This record gives sequence, structure tokens and C-alpha cells, in this order.
Amino acid sequence: MTNTKLEETLGRLSVLKWFPTNPYAITAIGEILRELCPTDGDATDLAREVLKSFDEWCGPQSLRKARAVILEAKLAKENERKLQAAYVVAGADRKEHEATCPGYLVELDSEARTVSVLPCRAGFGATDIKIWHWLRCRKGDVISPRLLREVLEAELAKRPGWVSLDTHYARLVCEGKQRLDTQKIGVMNPAGGLSVPAVFIPPMATPEDTGQGRTDHDGTNK
Ligand SMILES: [Zn+2]
Repeated sequence: MTNTKLEETLGRLSVLKWFPTNPYAITAIGEILRELCPTDGDATDLAREVLKSFDEWCGPQSLRKARAVILEAKLAKENERKLQAAYVVAGADRKEHEATCPGYLVELDSEARTVSVLPCRAGFGATDIKIWHWLRCRKGDVISPRLLREVLEAELAKRPGWVSLDTHYARLVCEGKQRLDTQKIGVMNPAGGLSVPAVFIPPMATPEDTGQGRTDHDGTNK
């Protein structure tokens, strides 16, 4: 801050009631103003903020608080500007994506031989901004369950022997239930009155296989 600006700022602040007249006090206030305001513009802002908030000389601490209020407002404004700029970029990215996106994704698992068709959930935004509402692919938002089903059926028709992910999970649940039922039978009819399954019988086991299952509990007394 220039000396001229410092003098002007001290003069403006002197309109406050009880503003010091002691030269040493004024020098001290001048030092604080220099510390708080690197530029003439900062001093203008600070004097404006103090005269807006106080009728009487507020003291050095309130001077510092007024400066903090100004910096906070500037930061919020800068963040808002960044946010708006990021929305413009993300909006353009989304538009480019939507130009070719069918609105769904086909996921293939060649190991489990499953197909799943999901609505597109692509997001666009900037991770370096604190408050960010991700922009989503709008084609994925409006895609109908019927179209998803049709795509799934078409994908399955191309791959004999493959199933949908839902069918795959349903089978797993069914197999798990069968296994559980088999274990229950073991508990209900314990050989020799044991309270744990005497023999673990895997699902779909033939009588010959019975003795080859897991033997964790085989004959163990607990
Ligand atoms: Zn998409």
C-alpha cells in the first residue's frame, strides 16, 4: 500500500467516534493497516467494510476480523466463478458423450458367461471443486426398462448358453438354498445322535459321492 493511500485510509477511519488522536496510536493503526492490506485496493475495501459495520472506533482486533470477512467473501466469489466455469466444461463433455451414447452399457463376463445391460450412469465434473453436483448422462436417465430388456434379449440371442446376470444370481441363490436344505437334513437326522451334521452332502451328490464331500465336521464331537 502506498503512503498516500495509508494517509487517506487513516483519514477515512477517523470519522469513527473515539478514533485515537494520539500520534503513537495512529502509527500503530497504520502498521496494522500495512500488514493487512498489501494493495491500495485492499485498503479501500477494508475502510469501506469498517465504516459499513461500525460507528465507533472498533479496535485492532475488529479491523483484522473485517479483513477476514473481506477475504472470505472474495474466496466464495472465486469458488463460484470456478464452479460456473467447470459447469460449462462438464456440460460440453456431457453433450459430446451423449452424441454417441445409446443410453445403456452392455457388460459381458466371459468367465461366468453372463450379460447385463445397465442404464448409462456416466458422470461429468471436476473433482478439485468442493461443492460439485455431478452432471449425469441424460440418455441413461430416460432409458426405458423395455428397451433395456430388448437389448438384453438381443445380446443373449447372439451368445447361446449365456444367461442374464439376474438369472445367474437366481441360480446361485437356488443352489445355495439347496445346499442349506441338504445340511438341515443332516442336522435333523444326526448319525449316532450328534448335534452337528455328521456328513456334509454337496448338492446334486449321488450316493457314491456322499463320502467325498467336505469333512470338516465329519465325526467331530464338540
Ligand atoms: Zn451415456
